[in-house]
Amino acid sequence: MSKGTPSMGKRQKKSHIRCRRCGNNSFNVHRKVCASCGFGKSRRLKSNQWQVKRVKWNV
Ligand SMILES: [Zn+2]
Repeated sequence: MSKGTPSMGKRQKKSHIRCRRCGNNSFNVHRKVCASCGFGKSRRLKSNQWQVKRVKWNV
């Protein structure tokens, strides 16, 4: 079993479906949580500090 292109045809199960809020294909079917915007987990859009670009302090 390889992880490359030949094994991609065997992937029939979907773990993520299209999110109702952000429209990305990142709503987890089993967890009922969107991995992208946090829909199902939080009312606000998901945001992490390590994802946002830091502003340079000494400019
Ligand atoms: Zn979402």
